Amino acid sequence: MKKVGIIGCGAIGTLISGAVEKGLVGCDELILYDRNIKRAEKLKNSLHVPITVVKSLEEMIKVKPTIIVEAASQQAVREYLNRILAENIELLVMSVGALLDLDVESNKIHISSGAIGGLDAVSSAALAGIDKITLTTRKNPRALDRDNKEEKLVYTGSAEEAVRLFPREMNVAATLALTTQSEKVRVNVISDPKVDRNVHEIKIEWKHGNMFLKFSNDPHPENPKTSALAAWSAIRLLKEILEKHS
Ligand code: NAD
Repeated sequence: MKKVGIIGCGAIGTLISGAVEKGLVGCDELILYDRNIKRAEKLKNSLHVPITVVKSLEEMIKVKPTIIVEAASQQAVREYLNRILAENIELLVMSVGALLDLDVESNKIHISSGAIGGLDAVSSAALAGIDKITLTTRKNPRALDRDNKEEKLVYTGSAEEAVRLFPREMNVAATLALTTQSEKVRVNVISDPKVDRNVHEIKIEWKHGNMFLKFSNDPHPENPKTSALAAWSAIRLLKEILEKHS
């Protein structure tokens, strides 16, 4: 019996649950938790798969999930991570920014590639030596809670600071920093009314060449900060992890 616990029933939690209903993920039961219980109840009522709504992480742990997906917030990772690992439960983390300043290593923690990809090549290059990674993220002002009418560079600096200043929007910077050495990652954030998609351009200069990756992602209709690809990368990873659990 494979049970998936989901903390956070917003844009990502809803897409993951929908994938379970469509049979894309081999899961027998969902366990939903959201600090706003109405969201968990609403999601339960929209689906036709076995679902238990719980009121706390402790209750979720009692139902014995095979894996827990955190799709909530950095604060949720800080609050729940140690408790989940203490129970030896697999944990898929979406709010990856939280992991930058938590000193934790465990093979139970899984990080999806999120709103980008190509991390196999980036981590291969990191073994040989990376000189520099430049991430330029371009989003519509509404995805950055701004209202500028002209293109505007709103941030340039380190990955850690970008994650601190844009905790909801800069998971990609955190993912790159966790895949390589964070001091090699420089981040530019551009608020651009001309774009409707969330665009991430990543230039990597490494010992034996260079790479250029570009992702133009549709924002989630209910949460423009989140790209659909982030949820689908979690669905793909969840499917893979559950297939290994017989
Ligand atoms: P969302 O705002 O649509 O939904 C989050 C839900 O989690 C809300 O319903 C909220 O009530 C709940 N929640 C927040 N803190 C909680 C807590 N401590 N305990 C229980 N419930 C809590 O967000 P989303 O778009 O679904 O994104 C979820 C997380 O994933 C965010 O932190 C976001 O920054 C991150 N994210 C990661 C990537 C990536 O590339 N890794 C991409 C997009 C979003």
